[in-house]
Amino acid sequence: MRPGDIFVSSALLPVFARADLTFERGEGVWLIEKSGDRYLDFGAGVAVNALGHAHPALVAALTEQASRLWHVSNLYNIAEGEKLAQKLVANSFADLVFFANSGAEANEGAIKIARKFQHAAGHPERYRIVTFDGAFHGRTLATLAAGGGQKHLEGFGPKVEGFDHVAVGDEAALKAAIGPETAAIMIEPVQGESGVKPVAPAFLRRLRDICDENELLLIFDEVQTGIGRTGHLFAYQAAGVEPDIMTLAKGLGGGFPVGAVLATTHAASGMTPGSHGSTFGGNPLAMAVAGAVLDVVLAPGFLDEVKRKGLALKQKLAGVIDRHPAAVTEIRGEGLMLGLKCLVPNGEVVAALTNEHMLSVPAGDNVVRLLPPLIVSDAEIEEAVEKIDQALEDLEKKLAKGLSAAE
Ligand SMILES: *Cc1c(COP(=O)(O)O)cnc(C)c1O
Repeated sequence: MRPGDIFVSSALLPVFARADLTFERGEGVWLIEKSGDRYLDFGAGVAVNALGHAHPALVAALTEQASRLWHVSNLYNIAEGEKLAQKLVANSFADLVFFANSGAEANEGAIKIARKFQHAAGHPERYRIVTFDGAFHGRTLATLAAGGGQKHLEGFGPKVEGFDHVAVGDEAALKAAIGPETAAIMIEPVQGESGVKPVAPAFLRRLRDICDENELLLIFDEVQTGIGRTGHLFAYQAAGVEPDIMTLAKGLGGGFPVGAVLATTHAASGMTPGSHGSTFGGNPLAMAVAGAVLDVVLAPGFLDEVKRKGLALKQKLAGVIDRHPAAVTEIRGEGLMLGLKCLVPNGEVVAALTNEHMLSVPAGDNVVRLLPPLIVSDAEIEEAVEKIDQALEDLEKKLAKGLSAAE
């Protein structure tokens, strides 16, 4: 340490503001802290634990694969990856899949595929991508530039070139932003990090038309919305708009790190051996677990249940708003990707919920995200609503005394 350095008791780079909770075990929608306390997990590792914790089908898939084969290079066939790609293709608009290890990396792949498409189509000058205010596409240098959040970009040198931002829904600004160098438009069908903001289906359809009219590719970032989160396997299916390229990550591995880029043959026409790659992408462990996640999510009735439970939770949350009109004001989102817009600071609401042994995730626009595992039961939804009521009651009392949730 040098004089002036901040003393930290952890050897981890201090880039996260962590709550002092240490979970040792998980069971379904519950996490068990080292104290033995049980927490109702409505954060699901930020929409990652799609099937909750220690789901038997995922444990079986992982351990079966772990006893046979962990890693082989992409220099060879990986049967588990072929199988998973077939499943994704059979259930989406896409013809081809590239596997990565995270959301940001999947988005990097999508950006590269779009640029290379234009290059191969005789338009090497087309490399720019139109993205949207409030977007979040990851933390690598290119995906930070794609997201455009000033706070995230500052201090990291020149921003990666080639991204133009417009407001969601502003068709005139979008048309003005499209020029001779534009290659693609990239959007989250529901903006997650900036506050669970669904993009109007009509606007998504306009994006499709505008892309077709201008020979641009349409990229949907479904890293958060994908794999049943909104009650549809993919959010684009509800909007009735097919992208040319789509990225997945969070829920895909149910907790095992994996990302994917899905594309049509047309959109991927610039990609040839050597034009992209990954050492770990398509790892057999990740492929086996993601395959098991998809089998569960695609089982008859599963997504209908997500829709039904999402609606039930949304209706109950409307009751919470009626009971606490000074604390919360709006519920938005689809399926089990819901955002509670707060009138008191959202961080205080998250802390008050943690006091009630319920986990949630803050988002932009003063929103608290509720992202339970898709296997959440009606009884657990009921329990969550009781905890939210209790948390808001406690918080209102504390705020009236000038205290915060932590006090
Ligand atoms: C989380 C997220 C990412 C980044 O995923 P990482 O796995 O953290 O790289 C990208 N896009 C969206 C929409 C996300 O929600």
